[in-house]
Amino acid sequence: MIRILVTEPEYFTPESLRMMKRVGRVTAQRMSRKELLNSIENFDAVVVRIDTKLDKTILRSAARLKCVVSATTGLNHIDTGYLKARGIPLFSLHGTHSVPTAEHAIGLLFSAARKIPAASAAMSAGGWERWRYIGTEIAGKTLGIIGIGRIGTQVAKRARALGMHVIAYDPYVSGKEVQRRGATKTQLRALLKSSDFITLHAPLTPKTEGLIDKKAFRVVKPSVVFINTSRGKIIDESALIEALSKDRIRAAAIDVYPEEPLPSKHRLRTYARGHGNLILTPHIAASTNEAVTRASMFAADAVCDFFSGKRP
Ligand code: NAD
Repeated sequence: MIRILVTEPEYFTPESLRMMKRVGRVTAQRMSRKELLNSIENFDAVVVRIDTKLDKTILRSAARLKCVVSATTGLNHIDTGYLKARGIPLFSLHGTHSVPTAEHAIGLLFSAARKIPAASAAMSAGGWERWRYIGTEIAGKTLGIIGIGRIGTQVAKRARALGMHVIAYDPYVSGKEVQRRGATKTQLRALLKSSDFITLHAPLTPKTEGLIDKKAFRVVKPSVVFINTSRGKIIDESALIEALSKDRIRAAAIDVYPEEPLPSKHRLRTYARGHGNLILTPHIAASTNEAVTRASMFAADAVCDFFSGKRP
């Protein structure tokens, strides 16, 4: 009997779970790290999203594991090298989350530009200090995109429709291709210097970890707004808090964190509680009904195809 573990069942539609049940016995439940460590040895397939860390310690215990499906684009929560060495295939999304993530990035851009979360919180608390919420316009401003792949391209398209001038830094995409994707190619320093809004859409790699550091915050305009829906470690967290608190930047709107879930007393939360210029969302950029349905059907197809021999 094939046994399939789905560790974040809230993200999988009944239809996708029914499909998986046609090829094996499905256990769909949240587990603590300890529970996962103790039970992973019983499963042939593990289906996860971003909350489940499949590091070497966990994977070493997965004696009968034959495939892993991650309904995510980024794979920083999985020891992909270890899976490769054991010859265990890993199936993940390619583009399924581009539109919702781009829409969330644009939502964060508006939220920060017009101080919408702070204004809403003040209204709930009984306030009417309208002058506190004078914002900044988006039309005519320069948007700098770091990483113009699938999501960056969708952001560029939306930003152009808003009347923004769009520039992009991506060392792996030619100037001509960047132009085709709706932006003008620039170097990183030029982008930092001239952007009014900067949005991150590069993957987390040794080259992008800490890419936005103390030095970068010294180069930017003091009016700049940072948006990060890619991976938390691309921005140096201490440098970000310093830049915000010393008014080196106008605001930041963040969906992804160096540590997830973000601890309840984490300094980013503490800072955000006392200041309106830091907006935090809990890694929800790709969380739309449509994307959840697409991702869970992708996962079900991957499991079914793998065990029926259609996927190597
Ligand atoms: P993609 O592979 O299509 O695009 C990434 C782009 O980044 C590529 O064009 C690549 O050339 C570029 N890049 C790589 N290294 C770079 C560097 N050093 N500097 C600048 N650019 C660099 O990926 P995508 O589908 O657009 O997703 C981008 C990232 O977004 C993912 O890696 C993932 O971490 C993140 N993501 C987050 C969410 C969320 O819910 N917040 C959802 C989906 C994806």
